[in-house]
Amino acid sequence: MTKVLIVEDEEALVTILKYNLEKSGFQTYAVTDGKKALEAVRSQTPDLILLDWMLPHVSGVEICKTIRQDHALRHIPIIMLTARSEENDKVSALSIGADDYMTKPFSVPELIARIKALLRRAAPKPEKQTAVYADLTVDFEKKRVQRGDRIVHLGPTEFRLLEVFLETPEKVFSRENLLTAVWGHAIHVETRTVDVHVKRLRQSLNAGGEADLIRTVRSMGYALTVSTEKR
Ligand code: CA
Repeated sequence: MTKVLIVEDEEALVTILKYNLEKSGFQTYAVTDGKKALEAVRSQTPDLILLDWMLPHVSGVEICKTIRQDHALRHIPIIMLTARSEENDKVSALSIGADDYMTKPFSVPELIARIKALLRRAAPKPEKQTAVYADLTVDFEKKRVQRGDRIVHLGPTEFRLLEVFLETPEKVFSRENLLTAVWGHAIHVETRTVDVHVKRLRQSLNAGGEADLIRTVRSMGYALTVSTEKR
């Protein structure tokens, strides 16, 4: 059974989320403050985390960053829940490592659609075991990415993006192509979201100072390509 950890300090919202998620077949576990959240992530090993932005003691942002820096936890998909609605906050939620973002008040069916879409893209694809491109090696089963000997740490959305790029290296994918391949048709995601995740993927791939592997093709999109330019 898929386990969703709810980290939210509004008790009424926790009740609504637990009720609706359990009705949709998910197992749930809820904590109401930031301090307990990390303990719960470690002890409950959830399949997905719904993480409130503003929490007592430790903020959702801090929790998200900590999870993304922890080798044992970083693969867990995270949807941030927030009362903030400004576009900048949305982009910053994604850039600190959240996979998706819902602004309160949100529709519960929409949230459930997003949870399912995120779990689909975080799920392992068993048909292909490994891929190699230039100095990049990806083990799809173990979700392990390496550049040369260096382990590259990717969140689930970035991993899925890389998987799409690796289906046809050097092909230019439009933002719309990537949206459909990574997020699916069911939910509305802005193309700017693609840019944020591609940026995160690029930063992680190049974190050891290696040559850039993602080419930005102006007004067209992105491709996985070995760069010949000096960085
Ligand atoms: Ca809150």
